[in-house]
Amino acid sequence: MSLLEINELTIRYADTPEPVVKGLTLAVERGESIGIVGESGSGKTQSAMAIMGLLPANAQVSGTVHFDGTELTGAADHVLNQYRACRIAMVFQDPRTALNPYVRIGKQLRRILLEHKICGRAEANVRTLDMLNKVGLSDPERQFRAFPHELSGGMRQRVMIGAALIGEPDLLVADEPTTALDVTVQAQILSLVRRLHAETNSALLLITHDLGVVAGNCERVVVMDRGRLVEEGMTRGVFRDPASEKTRALLLAAPHIDSIVMSEPVSADTGPVLEIEDIAVSFKERRSKGGRSLHAVKPMSFSLQERETVAVVGESGSGKTSLARAILGLLPADGGQVCFLGKTLPAHIGARKNTVRRNLQMVFQDPLASLNPAMSVREIVMEPLRIHERGKKKAGLNNDVAVMLASVGLDPGLAGRYPHELSGGQAQRVAIARSLILKPKVLICDEAVAALDGTVQLEILKLLLAEQERSGLSLVFITHDLAVVRQISHRVLVMYMGRLCEIAKNESLFTRPRHPYAKALLSSVPVLDPDARPVDLPLAGEASSMLSPPTGCLFHPRCQHAVAACSESVPELIDCDGSLVACHRAAELDLGY
Ligand code: SF4
Repeated sequence: MSLLEINELTIRYADTPEPVVKGLTLAVERGESIGIVGESGSGKTQSAMAIMGLLPANAQVSGTVHFDGTELTGAADHVLNQYRACRIAMVFQDPRTALNPYVRIGKQLRRILLEHKICGRAEANVRTLDMLNKVGLSDPERQFRAFPHELSGGMRQRVMIGAALIGEPDLLVADEPTTALDVTVQAQILSLVRRLHAETNSALLLITHDLGVVAGNCERVVVMDRGRLVEEGMTRGVFRDPASEKTRALLLAAPHIDSIVMSEPVSADTGPVLEIEDIAVSFKERRSKGGRSLHAVKPMSFSLQERETVAVVGESGSGKTSLARAILGLLPADGGQVCFLGKTLPAHIGARKNTVRRNLQMVFQDPLASLNPAMSVREIVMEPLRIHERGKKKAGLNNDVAVMLASVGLDPGLAGRYPHELSGGQAQRVAIARSLILKPKVLICDEAVAALDGTVQLEILKLLLAEQERSGLSLVFITHDLAVVRQISHRVLVMYMGRLCEIAKNESLFTRPRHPYAKALLSSVPVLDPDARPVDLPLAGEASSMLSPPTGCLFHPRCQHAVAACSESVPELIDCDGSLVACHRAAELDLGY
């Protein structure tokens, strides 16, 4: 008998016309690792919730879920509680909502051992500390006493994995465990899951939309589409020779760093549209008596040509978004200047001329949060025209909106809808239509495709590149996703703790990174090849606090190539075969890729 046997599982809700899971049949053996992939709405998470007995009360469930011979569908809570957390455990996507904010970390983990009578109090403390240590927390004794909000996102996710594994479950269900994390933290968490899975011989069910994550971590893969299992098999075989249309489409849409570069190089004779000179941003710490400053962006300079895409990459907190906001005049810069078509701009957006404001536009990560919920799609897209092209007749405005909606691939019939009636991909297209309707010269995209499925992401990227080709649009593309960077950028800026580490052409960065941090970022990206062994821990630990940054090179506490000079002096950007690199050892290191 298999450890888990799902038979003809169907889940429906009264308010949806179709079942969200239709006739799912799947067996999971002990020690096996299975990836469940599919787009949003394919039924992955609903299936996991059914295994855990966590579906809402209005779910209508048919079929069976047997775990080690016991039927779980329809089982009473006291029966399910014997299995949850100790024999079947789950890691959720967002640890902020899965951890109790009022209970200290140590107590939350210890409670699992005590409630399931796995051991007594004294041993529970020891085992909890041991688990916090195993999941790689830097100071387990301190983190044992901490509340969830005192930990970073990566640390909270480690705690979630510790909580899932502390009862030594036979089956670990991990639902998008790394989707919200930086690529470096993702690599650390996946390495941890692989190690613990191998040590405990537990079965692993990894739910993700990222096929690269499955390629490096799962022996078997299950592909779901609109509630149905459409393909199942060994990961290597399915990835090499997919049988279903859906799998083929997912594999084609999955961005990876060996992707074909979609952007053609810009011609060299175009002048800079935007020049950023020594721009810097800092914040005062509110609670600090001495008025300590947090330097979000240290003085940095770069330029953007017409029809060029410059990607800005780095982990959370590296200063990417502060840089974008300072360029747009939404955040006061400490110093430096922004020049647009050769003219220096006032620092604050309110002091900039309308012609400048209409030419510098931005698209934000969360389209639903950036669209006014009380306005229809038509009103949202039309609003910039009303502000900047006063006097234009209503028929003309309506026509412009219809043309714009069509050019971003939206049915003009959607114009009467409101943001909550749109899918994530449609809402992001509306946000892009709004930012493009004034035909800007520069568009800054801040994690504009991060929340979207691979196929929708690809459509949005193609849309932006088509617009660039058509109108000469210049793009600043802020992202932590290097696979996307590989596909669309001409040049890449790598930032670490507010400082520029490397500025390089796309091809140079991806074939020969010069800065150890750039190399670590590249090594952390999951590869879409089941035969490629994932690199274990390309970058350990987390960035230092911005309030007490290290001396010298900010990266030196995490750099495996650091020497004494690295903690003594700040490296300047120097030219290395056409790339600008801030590393004392850039000329001698051969980091290859
Ligand atoms: Fe590493 Fe030193 Fe280079 Fe910094 S300057 S990246 S610590 S080798």
